[in-house]
Amino acid sequence: MLMSGKAGRLELYKDRNTQVFLSKFLNSEISELQPVYDSKLGHHYPTVEAIVGDASSAEKFLKKLHEAGLLERKLFDKIVICPKCDSPSTSFHYCCPYCRSFNIQKSSLIEHVKCGYMDVEENFRKGGKLICPKCHDELRKLDVDHRKAGIWCNCKDCGKSFDIPVTGLFCRDCHLNFTFEEAAVKDIYSYSLREEAKQEAALGWILIAPIKDFLIESGLEVESPAFLKGKSGANHMFDIVAKSRGTHKRVSVIDLTSSSEDMVYEQPVIALFAKIFDVSPDSAYLIAIPRMSDNGKKMADLYNIQVVEAKNQREALKALKEKMNRRSSAL
Ligand SMILES: [Zn+2]
Ligand SMILES: [Zn+2]
Ligand SMILES: [Zn+2]
Repeated sequence: MLMSGKAGRLELYKDRNTQVFLSKFLNSEISELQPVYDSKLGHHYPTVEAIVGDASSAEKFLKKLHEAGLLERKLFDKIVICPKCDSPSTSFHYCCPYCRSFNIQKSSLIEHVKCGYMDVEENFRKGGKLICPKCHDELRKLDVDHRKAGIWCNCKDCGKSFDIPVTGLFCRDCHLNFTFEEAAVKDIYSYSLREEAKQEAALGWILIAPIKDFLIESGLEVESPAFLKGKSGANHMFDIVAKSRGTHKRVSVIDLTSSSEDMVYEQPVIALFAKIFDVSPDSAYLIAIPRMSDNGKKMADLYNIQVVEAKNQREALKALKEKMNRRSSAL
């Protein structure tokens, strides 16, 4: 019945670092966070480091936000890490398949169409021209009188020739030569804000924070998100719960809901009703952004749920204040 994922995210929205980071997406400063490559640090995220401190905290921070369902990630790169010193600064070597040396010479093979002679390009080169070593004609036009016939490698250490080199890996930091089998491979991601999280974030702190402040100023005890135990024994989560002080505490529950379309339908009314049926608070409010469908309003009326319609934060706060003041005896 509860969405622990959402509760986890609501906790995160209260975190200052998360707010600073998400606001960069919400104000379109970032649409996709991509890593920056540095030869010492490897791929890293300077924007996040500026908020949370260093590269390893930034990685943990992004992992946490991804696992909570705030960010979606896309594979950006795969990097090979040195098995000895963990350096991300590694390079590929093309090596001789016989002696594994990377001291190899790569050449193009050329075929002289007229006489059929084939050799590496160097053997055709004579003073800036290409001359066939066999028939001594000049080669003038590629794909007309001569053609490229692949590559040919020559090992400068063992002297053998071959057409396909094998790959080896080299650590630029500790100078270890290693194979792909020995290597650790790390996935590097780019991140973007999930659409659902965009709306939640807007509700979660841009709206909840000022509402909480208002309720606290009104002398109430406020929790957000809050869990209340119902008659059934189940715990129910509300976006905000406010309690009056003193021995006979009056309890108000508030949920927020929004739609990217132009109105909210009755589903959140039903969800809130199911919870208040079990919890029996003294009053229940549903803040609907930007507005509630007629059917939803009728149901809310029937279930004794106060609907607050608002296009933005300022309107929501103003309308909630009015509703609560009108019912101030209930608080
Ligand atoms: Zn060799
Ligand atoms: Zn020739
Ligand atoms: Zn190394």
